[in-house]
Amino acid sequence: MRDYDVVIVGAGVVGCAIARRLSFTTARVALLEAATDVGEGASKGNTGIATSGADCPPGSLEAELVRRSSPGWEALCASLDTPFRRIGGLVLARTAAEEAALTGLLAQARANGCAAGIVSGERARELEPMATPAARAALHVPGDGIVDPLRLTLGYAELADRNGVDVRLGSPVTGFRAVGDRLTHVETPHGALHATFVVNAAGIEADTISHLAGGEPFRTWPRQGQYWLLDREIGARFRAIVGGVPTAGSRGVYCVPTTHASLLLGPTARDGSDRADRAVDRESLDAVFEAAGGLVPGLDRRWAIKTFAANRPASEPEYRIGADRERANLVHAAGIRSTGVSSSPAVAELVHEALAGAGAPVLDERPGAATASLEPVPRLLGHPDPSALVARDPGYGDVVCPCEQVTAAEVDAALRMRLPPRSVDGLRKRTHAAAGRCQGAMCLAALVRRVEARA
Ligand SMILES: Cc1cc2nc3c(=O)[nH]c(=O)nc-3n(C[C@H](O)[C@H](O)[C@H](O)COP(=O)(O)OP(=O)(O)OC[C@H]3O[C@@H](n4cnc5c(N)ncnc54)[C@H](O)[C@@H]3O)c2cc1C
Repeated sequence: MRDYDVVIVGAGVVGCAIARRLSFTTARVALLEAATDVGEGASKGNTGIATSGADCPPGSLEAELVRRSSPGWEALCASLDTPFRRIGGLVLARTAAEEAALTGLLAQARANGCAAGIVSGERARELEPMATPAARAALHVPGDGIVDPLRLTLGYAELADRNGVDVRLGSPVTGFRAVGDRLTHVETPHGALHATFVVNAAGIEADTISHLAGGEPFRTWPRQGQYWLLDREIGARFRAIVGGVPTAGSRGVYCVPTTHASLLLGPTARDGSDRADRAVDRESLDAVFEAAGGLVPGLDRRWAIKTFAANRPASEPEYRIGADRERANLVHAAGIRSTGVSSSPAVAELVHEALAGAGAPVLDERPGAATASLEPVPRLLGHPDPSALVARDPGYGDVVCPCEQVTAAEVDAALRMRLPPRSVDGLRKRTHAAAGRCQGAMCLAALVRRVEARA
């Protein structure tokens, strides 16, 4: 049995960000994930907006952590070989009532320390020519960006692994042992780990982990979001994130270009009880398409690649970050419902502070710790000089996935990662192969062969 100073439960974007942060210290850290890959929970199915926090509740921990994270995206993503673009967001007002509401949204953005301004409908269409001519005015939030949330989660985990964090996939935490008010061991089907401190980053299962640990009770539940994914033919035309004025209950539907130039329409927001339910339904999807069409006219379902759903880890209270009240060596990073991608860098800092405050040995810096993932892997798609890529590696001349133009060189680089894909889905997360128009119909067999050859 190995001894760890800190065991983190859950390898979503939050757990992986914490693992990266702790990997800069001399602490001995393990990251345990139930699934066979990182980022299989909420971190897999989100909108990929790195918000600058305009619409966060003023004065909330969420607003504070998003604000602290926002300026660092360019540097962080460059260090993790993760696509990020600060393209700005527009909240379109199409009626007099919506236009009046912009003043309140501007005040909210400013209260959150977020740069924003109200622009005319004409200016909004200059910033995003796809925006509806019906827009009378808009809130422009230039600091909002788009990020690839899967690459971000992987990038955090790869760097943590590189700095010695023991990343254990397929290791569900099934129980704990304790002496007095302190946890001593974390149990998995593969055996127990000795843990001096435990971090609960189990997303929607954070309440289960707290219960198993004898920690304070809180409740988490799924808040489902449904999406359409449209292909590059339309996504590549977008210059900005486009949304509408939010309602009391939800941030509303957005049209969001992805870092791969596809387009997301969504999400819905509906509280549920079945944590495993990722089913879509026609009524919700029709409503999303209609709402998106009100923001950007001319959207056509023939551009649709797929529909999907994901569950936000909703909880009461939200952003439950800090020491547990019952267990002296348990720290929660739970209930990070709607902005966990955007706040993950600052959440990791706060958890580091909470661990230090509780006496965990996380203050000494690890000598020679890496601050970046290994050599970035260029993509053929959109590369300014494809022949230079082929000269550098002939594998760039072998296109495996025609829709997304993913080459053998990119696939092989993914298979050589510290945390390599164990399935075609894992390869898709790392390279975008099979994520395009044909959803793998043309490349699946070749991808399976390559994954199996490495297995
Ligand atoms: C529809 C939707 C849209 C969103 N849009 C955005 C957005 O645009 N921008 C943004 O910033 N955020 C967005 N979010 C929110 C963001 O996705 C979440 O806040 C974030 O992913 C939460 O990360 P997490 O690591 O806490 O949870 P998760 O990603 O769910 O990770 C928790 C992990 O814990 C693991 N786990 C659970 N139980 C155990 C166990 N017993 N043992 C070991 N491991 C366990 C799970 O397998 C999972 O991998 C959105 C979310 C959704 C669903």
